[in-house]
Amino acid sequence: MGRSILIVEDEKEIRDLLVHYLRKEGFQPLVAHDGEEGLSKARAEKPDLILLDILLPKMDGLELLRKIRADREIARTPVAMLTAKGDETDRIVGLELGADDYIPKPFSPREVVARIKAIFRRSRKAPEEMEEKIFEYDGLRMDVSRHEVRFKGKAVSLTSKEFRILQALLSTPGRVLTRESILKKVWGEGTYVIDRTVDVHIAKLRQKIPFLSEAIETVKDVGYKLRED
Ligand code: CA
Repeated sequence: MGRSILIVEDEKEIRDLLVHYLRKEGFQPLVAHDGEEGLSKARAEKPDLILLDILLPKMDGLELLRKIRADREIARTPVAMLTAKGDETDRIVGLELGADDYIPKPFSPREVVARIKAIFRRSRKAPEEMEEKIFEYDGLRMDVSRHEVRFKGKAVSLTSKEFRILQALLSTPGRVLTRESILKKVWGEGTYVIDRTVDVHIAKLRQKIPFLSEAIETVKDVGYKLRED
């Protein structure tokens, strides 16, 4: 059976169109009509990817994305947001919340399928680039295969993007990572993200693990580096 894709979209025409094309491409489409149904289906079906509309009844797409990223069981599911063209604010907020891609409306089904395939390619490549292992750094311990971070024995809850940024830093202590290289490593090539997104995620990491405020050094105009242990 093909990979399952949950479509959370309240407009019937768009939903039907996506179902039709995804099925034709060998995917297994699932549908939800509002935000709440989207969340319960994401939890129950654990889809391989979620296509998420922003304006939805009951719970909007950004709120739903926040809930997905906060739920350990489904936090790592790739999410592509469907949004009205040119809605910059939604786009930035969505990316900061950990959306993997943005598909502006109106879109052609062919474009959606191409984007979905690109996301799957990136997520398939990721484990090779960052092989699974355990990182220890001072009181910090990251178990990549279990998607677990502990500081002095206490579990820390990170979003999937925060986790991967920290992983990138832990795998290259003492080396400067430019914002671009972090974007490429964590979001993949060809994603529409802005540099500031990295800063926002680093700020969150430092906030969640205050020890990192000093351990992660800001290299002015360039990026970040993890102080050598
Ligand atoms: Ca809508």
